[in-house]
Amino acid sequence: MASPSTPAQAAKKALSRVDLDGHALPPSPAPSSPHPGPRRYALATELVYTDSKDQYGASSIPIYQSATFKQTSSNGGNEYDYTRSGNPTRTHLERHLAKIMNATRCLAVGSGMGALDVITRLLKPGDEVITGDDLYGGTNRLLTYLKNNQGVVVHHVDTTNVDAVKEVITEKTAMVLLETPTNPLIKIVDVASIARASHEANSKALVVVDNTMLSPMLCNPLDLGADISYESGTKYLSGHHDIMAGVIAVNDAEIGDKMYFTINATGCGLSPNDSFLLMRGVKTLAIRMEKQQTSAQRIAEFLESHGFKVRYPGLRSHPQYDLHWSMARGAGAVLSFETGDVALSERIVEAARLWGISVSFGCVNSLISMPCRMSHASIDAKTRAERQMPEDIIRLCVGIEDVDDLIDDLTRALVQAGAVTLTIDGFHANEANGGSSTPSA
Ligand SMILES: *Cc1c(COP(=O)(O)O)cnc(C)c1O
Repeated sequence: MASPSTPAQAAKKALSRVDLDGHALPPSPAPSSPHPGPRRYALATELVYTDSKDQYGASSIPIYQSATFKQTSSNGGNEYDYTRSGNPTRTHLERHLAKIMNATRCLAVGSGMGALDVITRLLKPGDEVITGDDLYGGTNRLLTYLKNNQGVVVHHVDTTNVDAVKEVITEKTAMVLLETPTNPLIKIVDVASIARASHEANSKALVVVDNTMLSPMLCNPLDLGADISYESGTKYLSGHHDIMAGVIAVNDAEIGDKMYFTINATGCGLSPNDSFLLMRGVKTLAIRMEKQQTSAQRIAEFLESHGFKVRYPGLRSHPQYDLHWSMARGAGAVLSFETGDVALSERIVEAARLWGISVSFGCVNSLISMPCRMSHASIDAKTRAERQMPEDIIRLCVGIEDVDDLIDDLTRALVQAGAVTLTIDGFHANEANGGSSTPSA
């Protein structure tokens, strides 16, 4: 990409609404980077690097807490007029995220589900969607609504099997919606192969990836051939469980415009205050994720060494270890394990003190949950059984606490619940029998 060499060329480029990064975005009062090309530095640097053109040189983008913006002429036409349509704080965030997500355009909305709502409004009655059988509960709920009320045909298949996906791809396939790793079964989906097969069958099919589990720190689905990448900003991007947000990244300008139309038409754009908070969270994504996944690796190895069936793509025992690492730069910080008994799992979850019982993940605090009782409860028991979701599965979402404290607390919970027995030479997982003795910790 040629960089503008004269002020006149630079001005022309600005007027054409393509910024110096080549992003065709609405202008921002604080361009995220003055450099040509999509990315100049390593991701950890780009995450914190913003070059503000603020009139006072503010180091962080001001919160433009204003619904309206005064116009200078009677027919309007200024950069911003109404916050539903655009707000400087949101634009700044979107431009920054576009760089981080390797996209030409990014859109920020009120939640991850809000993002999927915007994306699925690209569908028309009769369109077919192919998606997984181990989906985030909210995704499953929205797709079921579209199927029952909007005439959209939804095929749930095992997306970890590329051939199973190929079998249902036809020219009617409008969207292929993927999640990797899936949650809580931590199954890996071959995004590149499915994207290729989908586009071969129907060049207009949109391959959409929910990248919440990995974040742009560890994976860029657009680079793997996806048309749209979205994620819940509530999780790793924000990192503190203090806001809800959703972000969408796209390279095709026309698809970007269609989604922007929906955001402007429905009013689901992220508020100025939450845009500010998400921007602040994103700056620490690299250090949080590094710490979280290093601890997750130790905890996964700890559990595996004590005889539990652990699902984590950082473990060599993961059946799709190589596939995961062909797409991602890390294993993330969510893992799950089975105890063999629902009541035992409940006792473990309730005995944990440092691990908060909560849905969600990506927070600085570590969380423990039983997905079948909590985040995935909106999927009925019969469907969960069909999808081979073990009712006893425990999900751990690792935060940034001291890892030895986390392991100690987990050990105490396992012993108190009767999942392991303390012996002279360490712990041993008990045969799951639901009624094992409960040694006091
Ligand atoms: C949380 C989550 C969502 C939904 O995001 P919200 O911000 O809660 O609306 C979607 N997909 C995955 C994988 C998630 O974990």
